[in-house]
Amino acid sequence: MMTDATGRRSRADGLVEAARELFAAGVMSHSGHANLSARIDGDRFLLTPGYVRGLTAGQLAVVGLDGRLLEGELRSVSAEITTMHAAVYRARPGVGAVVHTHSPATTAFAVAHRPLPCRTEPMLRFGQPEEVPVVPWGPRGSDVSVRGIADVLERRPTTSAVLLANHGPLVFGPDPDAAWRLVVAIEESAEAELAAAAIGGAVDFPPGALADVRASIARAAS
Ligand SMILES: [Zn+2]
Repeated sequence: MMTDATGRRSRADGLVEAARELFAAGVMSHSGHANLSARIDGDRFLLTPGYVRGLTAGQLAVVGLDGRLLEGELRSVSAEITTMHAAVYRARPGVGAVVHTHSPATTAFAVAHRPLPCRTEPMLRFGQPEEVPVVPWGPRGSDVSVRGIADVLERRPTTSAVLLANHGPLVFGPDPDAAWRLVVAIEESAEAELAAAAIGGAVDFPPGALADVRASIARAAS
């Protein structure tokens, strides 16, 4: 059986791997800005310290679900975003990892306040068979922003991602591996939407396709 220590170590390794994969997939913005977290238990999660380039497991901080720093160090830039991650863990007990990036094509939708429709196979299959909703803008980490995230998650109980208006995506899943893969699927989909706009626009799946996939995902999970 996995002990607490080995479970925490594997989650830390998962975050380091996820950060590496995001760069390898080419979905990071020029600045390389991102923050990633993984749940340790019902009260705590691991969080990147304010940078992700060259990340090691020993650099991860431990934060409480109330947003307080419990272990390690965070740059001030990261201290502001603890509540953004905590809001997702509080709202979704099944979520094990949260990833925020400024992936350029996805961020274009966030900046345009346009929900990203589910019109590509990767989004359909990799955890987001529905549109990605927009959370109204609020200063990063502010009560307004955190309440906005909680409100959208309540209204959209099955979404695995949101677009923070004028900011970028916040994507979550059962573990760091699922979360980074969904970031990539969403960025690919946003790129395809923007490219398709130049040749007449993306077209919806046939009626019923999303419902069929949601039903088959639910069956596989039960
Ligand atoms: Zn950001």
